Amino acid sequence: MRTLKDRILAHIKSSGPMSVASYMSWCLLDPKQGYYPTRDPLGVDGDFITAPEISQMFGEVLGLWLIHTWRGMGKPETVQVVEYGPGRGVMMSDMLRTARLDKDCFAALNLNLVEMSSALEAKQAETLANAGVPVSWIDNLDAVPEGPTIVIGNEYLDCLPLRQLVMKDRFKGARGWHERMVDVHPENPEKLIFSVSESPISEIDQKFLPVNTPPVKDDDLLEINPGLRQIVDALQRRFVDNPGAALFIDYGLDETELGDTFQALKNHKKVDPLDEPGRTDLTARVNFSDLGRWAEKAELVNFGPCTQGQFLSRLGIEMRAISLSKSSPDAKAKIARQLHRLTDVHEMGTLFKAIVIQTPNLPEPLGFAGRT
Ligand code: SAH
Repeated sequence: MRTLKDRILAHIKSSGPMSVASYMSWCLLDPKQGYYPTRDPLGVDGDFITAPEISQMFGEVLGLWLIHTWRGMGKPETVQVVEYGPGRGVMMSDMLRTARLDKDCFAALNLNLVEMSSALEAKQAETLANAGVPVSWIDNLDAVPEGPTIVIGNEYLDCLPLRQLVMKDRFKGARGWHERMVDVHPENPEKLIFSVSESPISEIDQKFLPVNTPPVKDDDLLEINPGLRQIVDALQRRFVDNPGAALFIDYGLDETELGDTFQALKNHKKVDPLDEPGRTDLTARVNFSDLGRWAEKAELVNFGPCTQGQFLSRLGIEMRAISLSKSSPDAKAKIARQLHRLTDVHEMGTLFKAIVIQTPNLPEPLGFAGRT
């Protein structure tokens, strides 16, 4: 069978270079040979590890956020909980353990999982088999039954297809940005390389560029993530008639910065994103200020971004670590290491951020010190 790389090379040879966003979609989402549909990439034996896979404490304190948000909605009898990209279902399973502390809240939960990988969907079904709440898989937010809604996504936004733009002539302003493409090496027909489109981005794209971009020089690179706007559009459609709150946690920036952050991980190591299409995890940092800006335009209310360290601390993760260590003293050192990894400024504590986007009629969410 032809590999995904062969198919990408053939496609470029017949139709011309493809944008980084198309390349990312082919690599991550191709149903037969894409990265996510064909494997379980998570954990120590996989390519990367995420916060819920590091420690149960992560999902458990998010369970408190869930209870608090449900209470703030006026304790509805049913609440639609939607998780984007649930991985192996570990975070949700840990959240549910905490949610059980409030019986009425637990009884209200109806789970809807948005997952495109059948391999991971099977894992989620296994992990959540005895969850004690109804679970279904849906294609998108529009398919969720009406009613109050709580959305959550950890390390989901960073894998949405990313566009990269290169400044060719800064005196032209927005018309100076050209799309960065993936092309075939002129002398080696088996090798993929980056190139830059001859023509500037379209006028429509120019209107959607991030604001507050720092001063730009020629050849600077700017990343934009069209998926963020699509997520906010989906939230806006949903939240018109249904009170709702959405929590996203991911690695990224609270201001727009220039630079190339498109990266590939294999066996926990960084590799060239063009080397093994479909066999490495591709991500880029999330521009939270842009996400917040779209949310404001949609007349939704934003809290954050705040750092993961602050957020988890405000949710009481240190207390949880103490109580877990008391009940299993042998695991004390391990629990301390996990806590450090999730919250320390040199580990995930600062690089990762949390943001809540919600309808204006809801009280302030847990974990944020005021509105931004
Ligand atoms: N939230 C999990 C997994 C993060 S990995 C955790 O924290 O451990 C990214 C997840 O998003 C995977 O479950 C992947 O299959 C899913 N995913 C990636 N792109 C997607 C898309 N376009 N639509 C739905 N799910 C997607």
